[in-house]
Amino acid sequence: MKEYFSYYKEGKGITFSFKDNIVVKDIESVASSKILKGYKPVFDATVVTKVKKAGYDILGKTLQDEFGFGSFCTNLDTSFNTPRNPLHPDRVTGGSSGGAAGAAKKIKNHIAIAESTGGSIANPAAFCNVIGLTPTYGLVSRYGLIDYANSLDKIGVISSSLELVSLGLQKIAGYDEKDSTSVKVDIPDYTKRKVIKPVLGIPKGYLGIVDPVIKKDFEKVITSLKNKVVFKEVDLPLNKKYSVSTYYIIAMAEASTNLAKYTGLRYGFTKDFEKNDFNEFSSLVRSECFGEESKRRIMLGTFTRMAGYRDQYYDKALRVRRLLINEYKDVLKKVDGIIHPTMPIHPPKFEDVKDLKPLEVYNMDLLTVGANLAGLPHISMPIKASLPTGVMITTDHFEEKKLLDIGGLFE
Ligand code: GLN
Repeated sequence: MKEYFSYYKEGKGITFSFKDNIVVKDIESVASSKILKGYKPVFDATVVTKVKKAGYDILGKTLQDEFGFGSFCTNLDTSFNTPRNPLHPDRVTGGSSGGAAGAAKKIKNHIAIAESTGGSIANPAAFCNVIGLTPTYGLVSRYGLIDYANSLDKIGVISSSLELVSLGLQKIAGYDEKDSTSVKVDIPDYTKRKVIKPVLGIPKGYLGIVDPVIKKDFEKVITSLKNKVVFKEVDLPLNKKYSVSTYYIIAMAEASTNLAKYTGLRYGFTKDFEKNDFNEFSSLVRSECFGEESKRRIMLGTFTRMAGYRDQYYDKALRVRRLLINEYKDVLKKVDGIIHPTMPIHPPKFEDVKDLKPLEVYNMDLLTVGANLAGLPHISMPIKASLPTGVMITTDHFEEKKLLDIGGLFE
């Protein structure tokens, strides 16, 4: 189980871990990036403070794609271990929170605190057959998160049972004056379950884009729940068409600005300055340390927000995002939640992801990016199938309690 961690220590009882991009005082916290190697934070993220105050043992920091850039937990520096799927070691864990999902599957009574920008909680939860809950944007403080894309990042929970997921959320949710995007809302008791008969919408056309085996397994679950849930068809045409491109433009633009602070001077990795000037020096450090995917995102992200291109790409993506949110909100007036498979594929084998083109990988996020762009809470529940498969349910903002109650019907 240590293979899921970049730092590990034994613990007792119900234990917690934190994705490597969540800072823990005095413990190397590097978002699985070489450029931060050696960085030991001088403070705890708010979620870490809360868990420590509650008295739980912390097992350590879980592996991830570098800065969260990826879907398989294979985009990390070679000095880190690449985690393997806990059920099928020749397959990936999913990402970017692959270490968190693997740890949640392998360790009894474990609550893995992870982070999602565009699906990094739901995706690995589905691939490792565990539960992943991504809360509403603003419900959980991100103070102390090594940011990927600030308008999208959310800290959430991965664990093996709904009971542990709700306990984890209970411990980390709530307003924090240190995070200006944190929202003041009443926090209900997430751990109490209520039996409800929800109306769930299946978006038109979404089953047509998933692997036929996943479609069949999903339909079986739907049929088996006919007495407990009312299913109906809903339509999210704009999300189906535009969510991936909108997400990647916004995420990369924000990521490229966030990565600008890593120059080899202030955090982590550095080199002897010698006689190089600053630009030369930081180029050397950045060329050596950033992985291929990070470099790609810096270049594409910088391009989309450059003078002359900004209104064609970044500004337009922001406007489209508003339309996508409105579309979700309209549908959620008519149903309690939206349901579809979490991922269009099963966890792929390592040998099959090596040669995938970036766009092919990005397109696999189609089912998870919409809810993330809209800041809507969503949960991935594992279902019975020959290979790990999840169903993802999305509710309206701050309806985590309802989301957990709906999750109960699938457990
Ligand atoms: N796969 C998506 C990406 O690479 C989501 C990652 C995430 O949520 N951190 O951006």
